[in-house]
Amino acid sequence: MSTDIRFTDFKSDKQPTWCPGCGDFGTMNGMMKALANTGNDPDNTFVVAGIGCSGKIGTYMHSYALHGVHGRALPVGIGAKLANPNLEVMVAGGDGDGYSIGAGHFIHAVRRNVDMTYVVMDNRIYGLTKGQASPTSREDFETSTTPEGPKQPPVNPLALALAAGGTFIAQSFSSDSQRHTEIVQKAVEHDGFGFVNVYSPCVTFNDVDTYDYFRDTIVDLAETDHDPTAYDDATDMIMDGNKEYQGVLYQDEHSVAYEEREGLSDNMAVIPDGAPDNATNLVRE
Ligand code: SF4
Ligand code: MG
Repeated sequence: MSTDIRFTDFKSDKQPTWCPGCGDFGTMNGMMKALANTGNDPDNTFVVAGIGCSGKIGTYMHSYALHGVHGRALPVGIGAKLANPNLEVMVAGGDGDGYSIGAGHFIHAVRRNVDMTYVVMDNRIYGLTKGQASPTSREDFETSTTPEGPKQPPVNPLALALAAGGTFIAQSFSSDSQRHTEIVQKAVEHDGFGFVNVYSPCVTFNDVDTYDYFRDTIVDLAETDHDPTAYDDATDMIMDGNKEYQGVLYQDEHSVAYEEREGLSDNMAVIPDGAPDNATNLVRE
């Protein structure tokens, strides 16, 4: 790890193909800043992504990265972390990737509590496939495939995480750069599975959950007396589901990461014969 790493060191030389104004730009910038602020550098960082507009993030960030299959980024990230506990693992995805096809992995990743970070760019729509209702779309959100809306209540991702035994449950807004960065940073620093659901507007296909909507409705927990270690209060707020909160809703201050609990040491990684030099260095450093 290095102390003089800047967040721009996490930028790759690839130009993002996200639509101008997409929330994913702000989400990614905050992730890079959080990694730099916590003393990580690209050589000890592994970014795993699934499928969707969000899934392109590993190309735009300069780090070790894997752009995997739909909904399966979390088990890959867990495997990498358990093989090499020195690695900083950040998994990124979207609401479709994480709360639909990947929902089973999400629940079990939460309850396993491996020391890693999961950032979900929640735009409440499938953007890459041009605007279908996603698990977090509103009940009356009209799309080409749901002309009268999905007619079912949206998934509450924070409630799913809470029910699965989450030890760090937070939410941020991609446009509020400072707060988003702070919140992701806290997730990185958390001893266990740091989950951040990020309001990351899709400016092309979602004209309901817009920047203006979130600016007008977000309740920033930094401006309240909310204590994230107060489980009952966090539960009430999360289960209510009617407010758009920004901040850490719940953090178990006694959380112990899975690998620590199970006594997995830093030198448990097995380096297979024929592994490339950089992989060997990564594990041994
Ligand atoms: Fe972003 Fe939506 Fe464009 Fe995808 S379609 S890049 S989510 S604005
Ligand atoms: Mg989406």
